[in-house]
Amino acid sequence: MIDIKQKKDCCGCSACAQVCPRACIRMEQDAEGFSYPGVSKEQCVQCGLCEKVCPILHAGERTDQVLKTYIGYYRQLPVRMASSSGGIFTLLAKQTLAKGGKVYGAAFDEHFTVFHTAASNEAELAQLQGSKYLQSRMGQTFQNIREDLKRRQQVLFSGTACQVAGLRSFLRRDYDGLLTVDVLCHGVPSPVVWETYLRELEQEYQSRVSHVFFRKKELTGWKRYELDITFENGASYHRPFPEDPYMRLFLHEICLRPSCHDCRFKRLERPSDITIGDCWGVERYMPELDDDKGTSVVIIHTPAGMEQFEAIAPEMAYKEAETDRALPPTADSRKSVLPHRRREAFFRKLPDATSLKELVPLIEPSFADRVKRKLRNIRNRIVHKGA
Ligand SMILES: Cc1cc2nc3c(=O)[nH]c(=O)nc-3n(C[C@H](O)[C@H](O)[C@H](O)COP(=O)(O)OP(=O)(O)OC[C@H]3O[C@@H](n4cnc5c(N)ncnc54)[C@H](O)[C@@H]3O)c2cc1C
Repeated sequence: MIDIKQKKDCCGCSACAQVCPRACIRMEQDAEGFSYPGVSKEQCVQCGLCEKVCPILHAGERTDQVLKTYIGYYRQLPVRMASSSGGIFTLLAKQTLAKGGKVYGAAFDEHFTVFHTAASNEAELAQLQGSKYLQSRMGQTFQNIREDLKRRQQVLFSGTACQVAGLRSFLRRDYDGLLTVDVLCHGVPSPVVWETYLRELEQEYQSRVSHVFFRKKELTGWKRYELDITFENGASYHRPFPEDPYMRLFLHEICLRPSCHDCRFKRLERPSDITIGDCWGVERYMPELDDDKGTSVVIIHTPAGMEQFEAIAPEMAYKEAETDRALPPTADSRKSVLPHRRREAFFRKLPDATSLKELVPLIEPSFADRVKRKLRNIRNRIVHKGA
């Protein structure tokens, strides 16, 4: 039976829990807010399926190629503005819906925590749009997708690469109707940190949160996007990401899932048909595709992915690109990021903190940190120029 000895060896995809024929595995949240499988040993019949479908135990088994890489965006500006990058997810999703299929992705629930759910029409699709920067709960999603595929329904599943890998191992066979899309991923922050932040803002604004958008571009542009939160009393909070405490803690790698620091999926060979992400640096590489409203990198891994791309291409502004220029090997979404050295202190202090702002000093860089960062930036610039 699945037995997680080190937390870094579980990405929380829940394939093990969903495959268990006796339903004796439950995803249980730890003190940091991340979920891990807990097995009821009395009910377990030692069938071994949970180990068989673990994408971490079998991470090396699927190595699809990079067929092509593109840079571009969906031409419909309103969709792009409501998306994190170039709106490619929505364009792909619309194709699936047009064929009568279902689209699975991450949405907010009524408490603004994140879970995976299905959309069968464009109105439902809106809730899947936009990055939600915390780990999503998978629930029964893999089981539902298997039922859809057995009924020969077209399915688009989108999520992080480890979630796509989890789905593929859960299914244990290929299905013609399935298209998988992974979003490039820096790592997933703890849902508990997000909940703490929301409660703090609700206290400050004396009202419940009614809307969250992590990537508002209207005022400050795509490159310096804002976290945008609206409250039931009409108040609103928006702050460029480098000034928002939650985004700063996330991007300083102090509250990521342990497995994100040893990610088995941050390779170019991904478990998905298509990878999408932000094309940071597009202003240097292909300035003609940069209007600061969101440009995506699109990496095609399989013939099925290529077919889908060809179907959406007429609605895009795009160019073919060199993979290492569109997504440099130094990008945080191509290699595991190290945990912040004060990560433990952060999670130790979190339960007693009355505000996330109190914990921000933990990430303020020391003199030595500043020198190291400068050197790293110089090295990255040299590598980038040479590529
Ligand atoms: C936690 C996280 C970290 C990321 N880190 C990077 C990064 O380092 N570099 C980079 O280039 N891009 C990163 N991205 C991807 C980027 O933010 C965009 O999601 C991506 O470029 C797609 O943009 P879009 O405009 O095509 O579609 P959008 O409409 O913006 O994206 C929606 C898609 O994101 C998925 N999604 C949203 N939230 C989650 C979640 N919590 N878990 C799983 N899937 C989710 C939805 O299912 C849907 O497929 C990250 C995304 C997430 C969720």
